[in-house]
Formats: sequence, C-alpha cells, structure tokens
Amino acid sequence: MEQIHLDGYKKFKRVYFKDNKKLFDELAYGQEPHTMIVTCSDSRVSPDKILSATPGELFIARNIGNVVPPYEVTKGATQSAIEYAVNALKISHLVILGHSNCGACAHLYHEKDENEENEENVELSHVDEWLTLLYPAKHNAILECLNNPEKNRAEVTEKNNIQLSVQRLMTYPYIVKALEEKRIELHGWWYDVSSGNLEAYDYGTKTFKKIEV
Ligand SMILES: [Zn+2]
Repeated sequence: MEQIHLDGYKKFKRVYFKDNKKLFDELAYGQEPHTMIVTCSDSRVSPDKILSATPGELFIARNIGNVVPPYEVTKGATQSAIEYAVNALKISHLVILGHSNCGACAHLYHEKDENEENEENVELSHVDEWLTLLYPAKHNAILECLNNPEKNRAEVTEKNNIQLSVQRLMTYPYIVKALEEKRIELHGWWYDVSSGNLEAYDYGTKTFKKIEV
C-alpha cells in the first residue's frame, strides 16, 4: 500500500504538478474556492474526482455521515469550516454530498449485543455519540418506508440525512443572511457509488432528481 502511495505522489509531482505549475504558483498566495462541500469521510466519495475540480476550487469538510450539526448544539470542526467558508472565503455554493451504501447511515440500525464477542463489538463509542445527530433522519426514513414499503431503507435514510443537513444549515444565522442577500445557494446531492450518478434534491417536489449531463 505504501508503495502505491509513493507511486501516486511521484506521478503527481512529475506529471500533474509540472503540467499545472502556473496554477500552483497562483495558489501559493491564497485560495478563492467557489464551492464548499460537506461530505462523508467515506473513501469512495472523492468530490475532486466526481466534479473534475482543480486544486483551489473546492473547500471540503468531511465527517462520518456528512453531518451538519445544529448551530446551537455543538461547536466543532464542521461548524468552524462552514463559518470560515461562508464568512471569510465567501463561497457561492454549499453542497451537502451524501452517498449510497453509507456506513454511517447503516450503523444507525445496528443492534448492539454487549455479550457477543466478535469484531462487530469493537470500540465505537465516539461514532455512536456522533451519529445521534442523525436520529431525526433515521426516524423520518422509518416513517417514509412504513408508508412506502417498496423503497430501499438505506437509500431513504441517506437522502433524509442529506435533507436534514441542508435544513440544519438554516439554523445558522449568517447562512440565512447570505441566502436573503442571494450570495449563496444550498444544494443537497446524493452520489451513487455504483453508477457514478449524482442526484440533486429538488426543493419544489421534495425529491431527488438525477443530474443529467
Ligand atoms: Zn458515508
């Protein structure tokens, strides 16, 4: 694995960095990203790759489950990143990027058996605590699936979680102000790892629609 990383670094230095030296010379003096992405820590989700973005374009905050905590409840890395992106960098777009087969969303349904001694019972106390922030999404998903049993519960939970994070952005006073002044647009996207498709939340129909390209 280490060798693979060093080979990748070698390729970056000898090819990408060399070919884009002018860009890196400019970036050495600062950044002006147009978009912030809050996404999952999941290794399969790579915003730079999905959007074919160059360095300096995307300001990215990652956490387990692409969570936006409510403004008042907790203070932490994600809130700091959002605050800096909106107020200091003045990004124009803020995207919550969730994805298919999300382990964080699946973990919400994981039943813990304290007596069972297997690898499923490894230490995950911080994860469990962090994921309590997703409970409203889980509850909405359970209700939605009760009324629509044909739906895929995992996908419904992932999409409800994205909506929850977008809604929570509305608890941030400076984001509401930026929206009122039309300085920013909020987006909720779901990325399907198996097809590479992106679906965007439509505020009008309250559904996710595939982004046609
Ligand atoms: Zn995930």
